[in-house]
Amino acid sequence: MIKITNLSYSYKKGSKKALNNISFNLNDGEICVVLGPNGAGKSTLISLLTSSRKIQDGNIEIDGKSLMDMNFSTRNKLIGYVPQALEFGDLPVYETVLLGRLPYFYFSPCKGDKETTANIIERLSLTPFIDRNVNELSGGEKQLVAIAMALVKKPKILVLDEPTSNLDLANQIALLKLVKKAAKEENATVLLSMHDLNQALLVGEHFLLVKNGELLGDYHKNDLKEEVLSELYGVTIQINDHEGQLSASLKENI
Ligand code: ADP
Ligand code: MG
Repeated sequence: MIKITNLSYSYKKGSKKALNNISFNLNDGEICVVLGPNGAGKSTLISLLTSSRKIQDGNIEIDGKSLMDMNFSTRNKLIGYVPQALEFGDLPVYETVLLGRLPYFYFSPCKGDKETTANIIERLSLTPFIDRNVNELSGGEKQLVAIAMALVKKPKILVLDEPTSNLDLANQIALLKLVKKAAKEENATVLLSMHDLNQALLVGEHFLLVKNGELLGDYHKNDLKEEVLSELYGVTIQINDHEGQLSASLKENI
């Protein structure tokens, strides 16, 4: 279980907090979606959870151990991260994905590292790209490579910051299926931020609603209310239930 307690963060001393006293728990194998408008604090929360930024106030515990007390290698094995802004070295796709196994290398990758890499490349339909320089791919193709790099180490926690934003519809669904597979088959805890409410309702079980650095709500999917979503985004949102599958629609005229 991941336990987040009283997490606060300021980018500059004395400035308004980008995160203010946020607490919540995540269970193993669950998919948690962080929702909130631009500038709400979603990426800040994700950067603290993935140790891309240092915790200033509060605590993050994974199975009872504080993240701050873990060394880089331990954290790197536990957490797979797909950031919003992607940066890669000048390497072919195969080597880039293989590098995701780096925390497990002794001197060089072993047979198992290569097999896992080949498997994830195939599952993400990246086989036609293996010899291409990753920096010469389209935005969506790069996003798939980043996801492959995160999944290839079979992380206990998979964190994705707006992972579907550059993908076409088919790849959005492929990604959401993979995320679900990682959670259900590998018992990974998944935390992802996204703006598409319908996709969020397709894949999410647990919802964190963040606005102005505050946690407005912590809901199980079935407890989400139209009023709280409408307040979160400042537009009128309707939730529809088609035989148990929830979807959302906007009730706005333009
Ligand atoms: P979100 O991901 O929900 O869009 P962010 O976590 O990126 O929001 O930003 C939360 C707040 O922190 C915003 O007010 C944003 O302007 C501010 N912020 C984000 N990154 C930085 C930074 N590197 N330096 C200063 N302020 C930042
Ligand atoms: Mg963001």
